[in-house]
Formats: sequence, structure tokens, C-alpha cells
Amino acid sequence: MRAQAVLCTLILLAGPLQAQDRPVAITGANVVDLEGGPAIVDAVVVMHDGRFTAVGPAVSTRVPDDAEVIDANGLWLVPGLMNMHVHLGLTLPGAAGAALANETEAELALRMAANARASLRAGVTTIRLPGDAGHVDLALMRAIDRGDATGPRIFSAGEMVQVTGGHGSAVDEVANDGPYEFREAVRRELRAGATWIKIAISGGIATPGGDIAASFMTREELQAVTDMAHRHGARVTAHSGSPQATRDAIAAGIDGIEHGYFLTRAEFELMRDNGVWYVPTIVVSQPATMPFFERIGSPEWYLDRVRAVGERHWAALRAAVEAGVDIALGTDQFPHEENDGTISTVREAEYYVAAGMSDLRALRTATVESARMLGVEHELGTIDVGKLADLIAVASDPSRDISALRDIRLVVKGGEVVR
Ligand SMILES: [Zn+2]
Repeated sequence: MRAQAVLCTLILLAGPLQAQDRPVAITGANVVDLEGGPAIVDAVVVMHDGRFTAVGPAVSTRVPDDAEVIDANGLWLVPGLMNMHVHLGLTLPGAAGAALANETEAELALRMAANARASLRAGVTTIRLPGDAGHVDLALMRAIDRGDATGPRIFSAGEMVQVTGGHGSAVDEVANDGPYEFREAVRRELRAGATWIKIAISGGIATPGGDIAASFMTREELQAVTDMAHRHGARVTAHSGSPQATRDAIAAGIDGIEHGYFLTRAEFELMRDNGVWYVPTIVVSQPATMPFFERIGSPEWYLDRVRAVGERHWAALRAAVEAGVDIALGTDQFPHEENDGTISTVREAEYYVAAGMSDLRALRTATVESARMLGVEHELGTIDVGKLADLIAVASDPSRDISALRDIRLVVKGGEVVR
């Protein structure tokens, strides 16, 4: 009954809040402390002009007289979820992908906009895009920033930069060979508006053939990419399943590694010691995800590849958690993709706990740690005065049981109620 009442209040308030000339105050909820301290019980959270303007216990925090009030009695507030490995235009081998074979760029843009909207409504308020086609992602990012489209905050790598014959190169027109071409490719993405550079340094699951353990790029090519990106203040992350490729990339000053299918404790220690981030995307290879692949009509060779990689990928995640490498959450599926009774973003966090993380640490990978990886921890990632007002409300404390994220009751981005 209580939950029902809260929900009705939220729905009634959602309309007038969109304009948001007035401050919005959430009352009665508990604010989770991402440092592991006690929650702020019966809190008042005030948001105005897109930012948190007051956060504290009700006894000492004033609700402004002109505020719209959201009664969130008994709910738990955490920052909006962040998913660091998303392709809004993702297509995978199989029936669903084949149906999009003749998709025009205009159709792609609309499909990506719909995915962005669904991501946000699911509670994911910030995403990083490590490779989408045609710079549609950058156009969408600007449209969302302008308020012309609805979606999460986007940080993007533009188009993936890779060698001829590399992972995913079959679907891309542009490939690069030698350091000069890689420098040009990096500059091209940065000019288009990318703030990350994504490279593919080994094979992947989705490409038939192409050895996941191979190291595709020369040291000169790797060095050219990191040097050029870093000169422009951009960060570089790599698709890698390969221990050797990962070692080469660390030597060249890479900032992040995606997937890490075949990595061992030794590579994760090296990453930890060099401040290199790990984004596991564990949902792409685990048994609970198989219904997803069947649903989209994945071919048998693809399912075989997923199964073959799954066990080593899981061992890699466990090793990474143990080694204490910096981990940010990413799924390589749509953030809102239905997955084992929840969304992929939440299922991914649950896997982290199963792999040895505390619930709190798993929650951090989807909030403060992601913000830190993006270099925006002063703006996002916690519910603190001055930061951008992105939050979700859930029915119980996810820092004690991460599965609390399965039941999201309220989504707020920039101080505006989304859902
Ligand atoms: Zn990916």
C-alpha cells in the first residue's frame, strides 16, 4: 500500500516538474553513503537548475517554500546509474541484426535516439559509447545536451579506430595501418567531437574468425594513438581479450581495457599498478545471458563462441576483483536490455558481487568509479551539493544488497523527473 501511494504521488508530480523553474525537493528517503558510512535517514534532497542545492537530514535541512515536493517516504536514493560500455546502434550477428542490414543513417539515428530514451528511463543517466557508426552518437549527444532529444549524458569515442582486418573491421569502411594513419584517425575522431578514443587490439566474440588472444597492433601504432589522444586531453580505451595485446597497450600508456576475456591476475596487477581501468562487460559471456542471444536469433557459431569464452572471462573478472584494479561498470548490451529478469546494467553489477565484490563496491562501479574513470567525479557520481542532480530511488539499500537496483521507483536527471 505504501509503495502504491508513493508511486501515485510521483506520477502526479512528473508532469509539472518538467519545466522546473522551481526547486524540487525529495523528502522522506534515505541517501546511501557511497563511502560506506551510515545513510542519511529521512533526508531532504533539494535540486534546482539541474544541480543538488541541499542534501541533509530533515531535522536540519529546509525545504524551500516554493519547492515542488516529492514524497519518497522510505525509499533509498543513489546516484543515477552509469554504464561505460554501450553501443546505442548495436547490431549483433543473427536474425535481429540481419533485419537491420539495409538500415539507413536516418533510421539508425532514430533507433539510437529510442535506445537512449529507453536507457534513461531504465535509470541509466550517464553512458560512455566506445564506438558507434557514422558519428550519429555525437549528433545525438549534442541533441540531448540541447534538450532536443531525451537520453543519458553521453561521453563518446565516436567511431572505433582499428587496423585493416581487425575486430569489427568488416563492417567499417575506414581502417588504418601504420602510426601515421592511426594519428590521422585519432585526429578525425577528436575533430568530430569524441572525448575518448576506442581501439581494437585483439579479436572479439562478435567477429567470426579473428583470434581473441592475438595482438593486432604494433607498438608504434599503439604509441601513436595514446600520444595523439593524450595531447588533446582525450583518453584511450581498448577492446582486448588478449594478455599480450594488453601488455603492449599498457606499455604504450593506454587508459582502459574493455572485456579482458583471457586476461590473468598478472595483467590485472600490471593494470592496477599503471592506473589502467577495467570495464568487464561480463553479461556478454555468461549463462544467464543466453536467452538474450537466443531471443535476437544469434547463429550457432556465435553461441559456441560465447560459451567458449565465458569460463575464461569469468575467471578474468574474479582475478580483476582480487587484484584490486579500478573497475567501472559496462555491459556491451543496451543498458536497458532485458536480462535475467532485470536490465543488463543491474545484472552486470550482480555478477560483480558473485565474482567477489562487496555490494557497496559493485554499486560504486556504476556510480563514483565510472565518474572517476570519465574524469568528471567533481560533477557526477554522488548525491552531493553542487553536483549535477542525477539520481534514482529504490525500495531498499543497494549498498547492502545490489539486487535492490532491480526495483527502481524514480529516475531523475538534471533535477527533472524522467520516470
Ligand atoms: Zn563493445
